[in-house]
Amino acid sequence: MIRTTACFVAAGLLLGTATTARGGDQLGQIGKIGGAVKKVNDVRDLQVTDQEEQQLGAAVSERIRARYGVVQDAAVHRYVALVGGALAQASTRPALPWTFIVLDTDGVNAFAAPGGYVHVTRGALALIQDEAELAGVLGHEIVHITEKHTIRSIQKSKSVQMGASETLSGSSALLERAVTATYDNIVEKGFGRGEENESDEKGIELANRIGYAPAGLSGFLTRLKDRNKGSQEKRGLFASHPEMQSRLDNIKKEIASKKMASTATLPDRYKKFITYTPKSVTEIATVAAGSAGLTGGESKAEPKKEEPKKRGFGISRMLPTGGGEKQQAQVTGSGSARGVDPEKDARGGGNPRLVPVKIAAADIAAFKKEGGLK
Ligand SMILES: [Zn+2]
Repeated sequence: MIRTTACFVAAGLLLGTATTARGGDQLGQIGKIGGAVKKVNDVRDLQVTDQEEQQLGAAVSERIRARYGVVQDAAVHRYVALVGGALAQASTRPALPWTFIVLDTDGVNAFAAPGGYVHVTRGALALIQDEAELAGVLGHEIVHITEKHTIRSIQKSKSVQMGASETLSGSSALLERAVTATYDNIVEKGFGRGEENESDEKGIELANRIGYAPAGLSGFLTRLKDRNKGSQEKRGLFASHPEMQSRLDNIKKEIASKKMASTATLPDRYKKFITYTPKSVTEIATVAAGSAGLTGGESKAEPKKEEPKKRGFGISRMLPTGGGEKQQAQVTGSGSARGVDPEKDARGGGNPRLVPVKIAAADIAAFKKEGGLK
């Protein structure tokens, strides 16, 4: 875990504009407008201060760790935190208490929780072949956090609308609903295409800025795509998956247009610290989808029927086996058997404990210097 100096904007006041009724009491107030009786909105979209973002992210990370377990290996965590820390330092939100967590599962995935919690699976590290690829994946996740993609997404969720006088940190029930909505958004639904493209573009730019070859992310995604090729017949539903190709095309275009100069890939350093062997998708033990959710009892507060699932578009979501459009339609349509996504539904380890790693700015500087990074 990397803990840089936390520097929160202590914004105790709520941001944004609340939908208010006239007068002080805004809850359920009935206002007369033009003679007609109209119920004034008594809820508003979720407002999140920087401190609340932290609180939310910590709770969501706890659920992700409970679901997949944490690799109890300090050397692995230290290495991932050094690469991640170097990127985070160069990001638009360097002062977040960035935390890099390696999840104990063979599934290939990565999850970004608000407030600086970046999770990458052991399976993803096994598939990654050099440091530029790792930087590409971590850079992508970091941008989800710096651009507040999850916060924006759950703000649209009806289940986390808040009363006019409610705050996230002041209401444990609201926080619980927000944690559930956030977990669901990150792990189950994934982001939309626009957010994924933004994370791809800004993520490779970030990695390149500190010296990594920009093609790291596409190298990894291409291998991920190939890895899932063999299983297409079995999961014929996802025989075609243009999303991944369009994403790769977009990355290629971005690299060409931005004249990215850095070239470090550092495969030897990567292999010195990461020695996992990838498992094929057919070898991955899975847990039943649906029960694959949270240990903490999934979402009594937010039944899944609430809104149509948007197209999943995460690291593994773009795969033929990932929760693509058809699969999502199947879920919402019938509520019946949902396809198993071996990456997401992979069995996890039993130890959710964080592996604390202390990394100072000097450690990152030495690490960058050793690798010829900027
Ligand atoms: Zn993403």
